[in-house]
Amino acid sequence: MFEVSAKMLSYADAVELIQQQLPPPAVVRLPLSMSSLKVLAEDVVADSDIPPFDKALMDGYAVRSQDVRKAPVQLHAIGISSAGRPLACKLAPGQCVQIMTGAVVPAGADAVQRVEKTGRINDSTVEILEAVSEGENILKQAGEVRRGQVVLRKGTVLTAVPIGVLAAFGYTHVSCYAAPRASIVSTGDEIVEITERPETGKIRNSNAYMLHAQCRSLALEVDLLPIVVDDPGELKKALSRALLNELVLFTGGVSMGEFDYLPRVLKESGADIILHKVAIKPGKPILVGRKDRSLIFGLPGNPVSSFVTFELFVRPAVRKWMGFAGSGLPKIWGNLLRDVRQTPGRIFFKAALTAYTNEQFQVDPLDTQGSSDLTGFAAANSLLVVGADVSFLPAGSRVEVLLLDRYFAAGDSPPSLECV
Ligand code: AMP
Ligand code: MG
Repeated sequence: MFEVSAKMLSYADAVELIQQQLPPPAVVRLPLSMSSLKVLAEDVVADSDIPPFDKALMDGYAVRSQDVRKAPVQLHAIGISSAGRPLACKLAPGQCVQIMTGAVVPAGADAVQRVEKTGRINDSTVEILEAVSEGENILKQAGEVRRGQVVLRKGTVLTAVPIGVLAAFGYTHVSCYAAPRASIVSTGDEIVEITERPETGKIRNSNAYMLHAQCRSLALEVDLLPIVVDDPGELKKALSRALLNELVLFTGGVSMGEFDYLPRVLKESGADIILHKVAIKPGKPILVGRKDRSLIFGLPGNPVSSFVTFELFVRPAVRKWMGFAGSGLPKIWGNLLRDVRQTPGRIFFKAALTAYTNEQFQVDPLDTQGSSDLTGFAAANSLLVVGADVSFLPAGSRVEVLLLDRYFAAGDSPPSLECV
């Protein structure tokens, strides 16, 4: 176990320590329409064969292949089988049935000849122009899936296609790993609602909306709580409201400033402080605590720090909580396009624009005004990782990069990464 001490934790130790705080995965049954981006908590079996009958794959005529071996031959057409309207019959020698794609192949038929290779002589006679072999243009019952077969494994992330598969087998509800509901609380005397024009010294509550979007990207339900002033009593009240949810995100008030009351308020409220301060840039003052069934994050107020610490600590924790196999951001290695310098001591997650060109990732570090410059950061789609002991990375270095959601966002790929 790690000790909470005055010593700053490393990034890796902090991630590990947070992961140890997570509750064991809980399983919930959700309506299928509410299951998007959850993780399946059980194997799912097919309740029926697919297709459930021998199915025509072409428009044409269902025939006995032996009858048309010496085509061209004329057959007696005895009816129509269309999708959803099967023809109850059994083909006798010399007979055929007009059939549509998706329709049930009538008993006795063992092949379908495509309409282009037939000619209608009159109402009851059809000429089959070419032979077909047994089974041609038919998908046999259970040709795709057999009843009882496992069609989705526990651990599958429920994106559109698995949800379609569940629907195909009649699952109206599905067992998934539970996700925490989140409370978001912005703190600070200077913070005003985004509907206001801030007076001198004030600043709009952008973090709450950004964190809300980050939570929504994990499909979390969120309560956006009112802004709290820098007052221990008010913070305490806000904390007890926020603790109704299992995931509590505070932003602001976690540094060493005189009015940064959150660490004290958490302690006085009986929360366990798991960690305070991690050797990272941006985001050093991050605070993590636990009370009852809630995990509490105090994220630094500077918007870039708030965003980055969510990505580095909250997202992996929530993903593990929700049963995802991989918990962190996608990591790649790329070619650094420009020199990067930093004061060593803390691992640096620097805004970067990464593109895949000339068969490798090219990493362009961005010049921003630092952890308050969210607008400058908005051009980034990735975080360049500069080790804590590194002071200089020359252009051309092979560098580690974490890809942000935005890297994959539709319409937002770097010019070289073609979107279809
Ligand atoms: P703090 O971590 O409370 O010291 O806040 C650091 C800085 O982050 C403040 O001076 C604000 O400029 C900014 N900040 C704090 N909270 C927010 C917020 N909710 N939205 C936008 N900016 C914020
Ligand atoms: Mg503050």
